[in-house]
This record gives sequence, C-alpha cells and structure tokens, in this order.
Amino acid sequence: MNCELCGKEISQGTTVSIENSEITVCEECKSYGKEVFSSDTEDVSDNEILQRIKNKKRSSSSSDIYRGDQKELALDYSERIEEARMKKDLTQEELAKKISEKKSVIAKLEREEMRPSDDLRDKLENSLDIELMEKIEKTSTKKSEESEGLTIGDLIEEES
Ligand SMILES: [Zn+2]
Repeated sequence: MNCELCGKEISQGTTVSIENSEITVCEECKSYGKEVFSSDTEDVSDNEILQRIKNKKRSSSSSDIYRGDQKELALDYSERIEEARMKKDLTQEELAKKISEKKSVIAKLEREEMRPSDDLRDKLENSLDIELMEKIEKTSTKKSEESEGLTIGDLIEEES
C-alpha cells in the first residue's frame, strides 16, 4: 500500500478526509487532512460514499421526470377550488351536482379537511377550469447534489 499523497510505501495507512474525499495516507501526510473515524461522525466513510452514489444514480435516472413533470396537489388547493367556484357563481351544492359528488365533499375540500382523489381532482379541474397541481419543489434532491462534489465519488462513477 502506498500513501496516496506522497506515494511512500506504508504498512498501515491512515484514512483522512481532504476536501470531501477520503484517502489513505502515511503518518507524515496525515496532517494535510482530517482524520476519519467511525461513520457516526459527520465524515463520510467509503460505504457511505458508495451508498450516496447509488442513491444519486437512482435519483438521477428519475430526476428528469422528477424535474419536469412530477406535480403534487397545490398547498392552496382549497382556496383555488373556492375561488374558482365563486368566479363561476356556483354554490357548493351546484358544484357538487356538476361533478356528481356530495355537497359535503366540496365543503370538506374547501375547508382543507379532505384532499381530493385523482379522480375527484380531475373533475374539479375540468369543471372549474383550474389547475390544482403544481410542480414539486426539489428539496429532497438536495442531498444528491451535494455528493456531486465528491472527488472519489466521481471517480468511482466514471469507472463503472
Ligand atoms: Zn505521505
């Protein structure tokens, strides 16, 4: 085994973290990085890096779809329904009739006591000419973007 920094032969290297990469170095080069201990610290172990790469691969394969098309129910869906209904000058009852639902369903929707099913949502959107879905904010992919800065991660990914 050789020190990954100076190339000196070493019997037992020390794993240190330098700029988000983990390398095995000799005693002398140890001071250039931050020594890595067990995985319950904030430092990333090799396994964790691999895991992140796997996660990244999984999420990047679906991220295009995720970015472009995936939508979820708007947070203000109830307001949108109510507003659109008022605009069309419909009572809750009339709207309910229009989409063959009970008035209580409309009331619940407008009070945010119920989320519409896909089917119900479609009916509402069509009859009120509104959009109840909006694009998902990509908060959950933040983690995988962070791992793009990992040098070792990038190397491994290129090799495979
Ligand atoms: Zn060295």
